[in-house]
Amino acid sequence: MVLSKTVKVRSDTLKHQGKRQQLANIVAGKGIKDDRVLAAIKKIPRHLFMDSSFEDHAYQDKAFPIAADQTISQPYTVAYQTELLQVSKGETVLEIGTGSGYQTAVLCEMGAKVYSIERQQELFRKTKMFLSKIGYRPRYLGFGDGYKGLPDYAPFDRIIVTAGAPYVPNPLLSQLKVGGRMVIPVGKDVQVMTLFERKSANEFQKSEYDDFRFVPLLEDRN
Ligand code: SAH
Repeated sequence: MVLSKTVKVRSDTLKHQGKRQQLANIVAGKGIKDDRVLAAIKKIPRHLFMDSSFEDHAYQDKAFPIAADQTISQPYTVAYQTELLQVSKGETVLEIGTGSGYQTAVLCEMGAKVYSIERQQELFRKTKMFLSKIGYRPRYLGFGDGYKGLPDYAPFDRIIVTAGAPYVPNPLLSQLKVGGRMVIPVGKDVQVMTLFERKSANEFQKSEYDDFRFVPLLEDRN
């Protein structure tokens, strides 16, 4: 009798790499110019951030459901926010909404020191294990409420919020360095991508960009 056993190993093949190249071209075609962002999209195996049964969707420019009713953001959206963030190597970035960890990986690829918070326990645990398994080393991954930020590690050079915020949480503004940038989608049903640049201790310059749709940034009481 022959005993056969199938061991499922998820791999990153040349085919995946080719599809990522195409994805980066699509994102560039939609107006993203930052080469470092496009290089990260070409490099990161997005299919591994999703359940294996949905692999076919990984290199389409679309958001997709992951665990706990959440989504992995659309690559274009990730690229748009990252470009607006203007992050340089060695800078500290606070990310609100770790989710699948894809945006975290993009920031790591760009040489940022990433601190990320997720309020869904299940996702937090899963993503923490997964990112370390595929070799990404954010400075800090925490389970907590993004509305409060991360005062123990503040201030940050950059802050990126990856869920739709009904209003701008004050703790986040106060945890931004002078000269720092925060990119946050603000609004209830539709969110306006908003940039805050901290000009001094109590002066912020606000600029508004395109409309997007994110899953909501939930408060603890929800
Ligand atoms: N950056 C993620 C996007 C995930 S969607 C990615 O690249 O995949 C937004 C995430 O924000 C969800 O995982 C959701 O659980 C999380 N979230 C919602 N409200 C939050 C809060 N108050 N604090 C921290 N995370 C929150």
